[in-house]
Amino acid sequence: MQLTILGSGTSMGVPVIGCRCGVCTSGDPHNQRLRTAALLQHQGTTILIDAGPDLRVQMLRHSVTRLDAVLLTHAHTDHIGGIDDLRPFTMGRNHSLGVYGDPGTLRRVRHMFDYAFDPAPSMSTRPRIETRELTVLFTVGAITVAPFRVLHGPHAIVGYRFGKLAYITDASALPPDTMEQLQGLDTLVLNALRHQPHPLHLTVADALTIVEQLRPRQAFFIHITHDLDHATVNAELPAYAQLAFDGQVIQVRDGE
Ligand SMILES: [Zn+2]
Ligand SMILES: [Zn+2]
Ligand SMILES: [Zn+2]
Repeated sequence: MQLTILGSGTSMGVPVIGCRCGVCTSGDPHNQRLRTAALLQHQGTTILIDAGPDLRVQMLRHSVTRLDAVLLTHAHTDHIGGIDDLRPFTMGRNHSLGVYGDPGTLRRVRHMFDYAFDPAPSMSTRPRIETRELTVLFTVGAITVAPFRVLHGPHAIVGYRFGKLAYITDASALPPDTMEQLQGLDTLVLNALRHQPHPLHLTVADALTIVEQLRPRQAFFIHITHDLDHATVNAELPAYAQLAFDGQVIQVRDGE
């Protein structure tokens, strides 16, 4: 199984428009972070995790021409704002693209992109998507998906486990039953916003504590602000838990 980090940035992306800080003006391409999203590929099946405002650029950069499903973690705009750009993936196809999420997320998608659900015939003017509610365990092609709950401040949002890979973004805490479900991972992708505490997001230290509790072989941090310089922070972090970067390809060891 292979996971490509399409974006590793927080909601405004890095650089932040108008910001002249050291990270935003850095020459290191690892400090350029599109909004957080990832592409999971396994035995011919391709799943997009989150569809934020940078979706079009992310699909072009990685020459993605086919998607089997889209999994949404929650309804914040940095995770669903690019849904209109799913149009090329559904144009000329005779079936809809499945977009999975919890009921609240799907309600928000149907509200924000109401025209996509207009029953009147339309050609390329709307993405042909079909909202699908999550179940405990389901399959998309060759990939088995097990959603779980994480806290994002006061709200419960969704993380996803795929075999020995778990993907979590925008968490502020992982409930005990989720920690239980995340035993035996090879690879953990987890959000780490910055060093300073934030009510809705884990800090780098919080994320590292979770990694040390779950003990995956490798962990990668996403949803990063311009407070973190890639090279500086990674030099301080252990080799098994590093800041991810846009375009990074992560191989998951799925065997025993
Ligand atoms: Zn976010
Ligand atoms: Zn900045
Ligand atoms: Zn969020």
